[in-house]
Amino acid sequence: MAQEYDIIIIGGGAAGLTAGLYAARARRKTILFEKAVPGGQIATTSLVENYPGFPEGIDGPDLAERMEEQAKKYGLEMVFAEAEGLTIQGARRVVHTSEGEFVGKAVIITSGAEHRKLGVPGEAELTGRGVSYCATCDAAFFKDQVVVVVGGGDAALDEGLFLTRYAAKVIVVHRRDQLRASRVLQERAFATPKMEFVWDTVVEEILGESKVGGVRVRNVKTGQGRTIAADGVFVYIGLVPQSDFLKGLLPIDGGGHLEANLWMETAIPGVFAAGDVRVNAARQLVSAAGDGCTAAIRADHYLNDLIAQEQATEPERARA
Ligand code: NAP
Repeated sequence: MAQEYDIIIIGGGAAGLTAGLYAARARRKTILFEKAVPGGQIATTSLVENYPGFPEGIDGPDLAERMEEQAKKYGLEMVFAEAEGLTIQGARRVVHTSEGEFVGKAVIITSGAEHRKLGVPGEAELTGRGVSYCATCDAAFFKDQVVVVVGGGDAALDEGLFLTRYAAKVIVVHRRDQLRASRVLQERAFATPKMEFVWDTVVEEILGESKVGGVRVRNVKTGQGRTIAADGVFVYIGLVPQSDFLKGLLPIDGGGHLEANLWMETAIPGVFAAGDVRVNAARQLVSAAGDGCTAAIRADHYLNDLIAQEQATEPERARA
């Protein structure tokens, strides 16, 4: 028989762990499913510098561990499982996972987003052999070597700067002539001698047989192609929301984000979406945590209303 909970949380990033903390402190029987490493994107971030309260910054995996510990301290149950679907049966919300079915009265979806792929020849073949999406995990393999970072956002610069601790040279290849990243990261990157920028340029192929040897690029303004020799390629070109398992059940925008209002409520009562998977999220750690908190508070209110409704219909049922 499926196990029953008050609140089921899908995804153990900052939004999910914060939702778990609030739900558990509200004394709701709560379970959280995470398919990989708790902490989501923070677990693969070298240094978090913009989470309030840590003026010197905090190591990403360390912060993730603390968030998990804090939520568990209040009774959050965590299970390693992948959510595969959700079905609605009256007031029951059934979550189908790789570890079986779980029934909740409310569900908070915090499944986050994963790194967008370039989709060029060589990328899939050389992943793990020089192509990476996690500088924190793999930077040490590139000591005194040359690496290419693709992208111009916060992640590209943050992780590119981390790579300079090991690599001899970090070449940032960006498709425009202006970065999207925050000013403070831009200033730091431009002041780092090991970092070089190749503007208005897209990567068309990752080269190499058994390991990365370079990238074939094209300047989008001149049309000119060339090869850049490199030992590694780190891809940071944005994020893709993980919402596929909910297709057909909940409204999803063109970019794959779940539609939700400012209370994190989706179109289905008792089903909430928070963090990077929801539409219009600021996609910051602090806003993801805020989203998770809002969703848990709203889910708690929803459960109160549900109980009140059940109690109101009890006497009627007894009379019948
Ligand atoms: P992002 O902000 O969406 O930036 C993606 C970058 O990749 C953009 O510069 C974009 O170019 C480029 N790009 C997108 N698709 C491309 C393609 N197919 N080929 C080549 N280039 C492509 O993504 P992100 O850097 O992963 O950050 C995601 C969110 O997390 C953001 O909200 C960010 O602020 C947040 N974040 C924050 C921090 C921090 O505050 N330290 C660290 C990491 C992430 P265009 O600029 O031309 O669109």
